[in-house]
Amino acid sequence: MSVLKISSVSKYFPGGTKAVDSFSLDVADGELVCLLGPSGSGKSTLLRMVGGFEDPSSGLITIDGEDITHLPPERRPTGMVFQSHALWTHMNVFDNLAFGLKLRRTGKSEIREKVEAVLDLVGLAGYGERKTHQLSGGQQQRVALARSLVLEPKILLLDEPFASLDQHLRERLREEVRDIQQRLKITTLFVTHGQDEALSMADRIVVMRDGRTEQIDRPDVVYRNP
Ligand code: ADP
Ligand code: ADP
Repeated sequence: MSVLKISSVSKYFPGGTKAVDSFSLDVADGELVCLLGPSGSGKSTLLRMVGGFEDPSSGLITIDGEDITHLPPERRPTGMVFQSHALWTHMNVFDNLAFGLKLRRTGKSEIREKVEAVLDLVGLAGYGERKTHQLSGGQQQRVALARSLVLEPKILLLDEPFASLDQHLRERLREEVRDIQQRLKITTLFVTHGQDEALSMADRIVVMRDGRTEQIDRPDVVYRNP
C-alpha cells in the first residue's frame, strides 16, 4: 500500500533552472526511502515540495489518496527536519517540543505526556529544562527530530539531518534514527549525498541526477550496480 504518491512533479525556478523534472515515486507504508545524488540534483527541492515549503510548477502529490500538492506545511501530515536544526534558542527543550502541540490546543497534561515520551524515544529523557544552546550538536539534532515526531506526522522528511556533525556522531545518529523509524514504522523520505548513509539506512534508494531518477532499487542492488 503506498502512502505517499509523487506523480510527474516538476519544479522550475525563475531563470529557467529545472530543479526537478517530471519526477514520480510511490512510497509504501513504513518504508524509508533515501534520495541520493550529487549536490544540485534536486533532492532538497523535491523534499521541500513534499513538505509544502516549495510549490511544484506541475504535477501532483498525494498522501493516503488526499491531494496535498498546494496545502501549506502546517496543514500537511508531514514533519520535516532540516540540515541545520533551527531550534528556538530562547526556549528550553520542553517548550520547543510543546510549541506545536499548544498551537493544536492540546491539553497540558497530554502535552507533558507526549513530550516526555518522545524525549525518551530520542534518548534525551530528563533534558526538558535544558536550554537548547547548552546541548551538543548531536543532541540538538535529536531535539529537532523529537520536535517533528511529537506532532505524529504520517510522513517524516529528513534533509541531510547529520550534515553538520562529525563522522563518528553521524554514524551513531544514523543507527538511532533508523531504529526509531522502524519502531514507529513511520514512512520516511531521507535526503543525503552520502552513499554510506543511504546504503546503511534505506529500504530503497532513489539515485537522482538532474532532477530525475537515474536508478531506483534496494540498497544491495544499487551497491552492486552503482
Ligand atoms: P540538491 O538538494 O540535490 O543539492 P537542490 O534541490 O538544492 O539540489 O537544487 C536543484 C537545482 O535547483 C540546483 O541547480 C539549484 O541551484 C536550484 N535551486 C534550488 N533552490 C533554488 C532557488 N530557491 N532558486 C533558484 N534555483 C534554485
Ligand atoms: P551526543 O549525545 O550528541 O553524542 P556528546 O558526545 O557531547 O553528545 O555527549 C555524550 C553524553 O554526555 C550525552 O549523551 C549526555 O548524556 C552527556 N552530555 C552531553 N552534553 C551534556 C550537558 N551539557 N550536560 C550534561 N550532560 C551532557
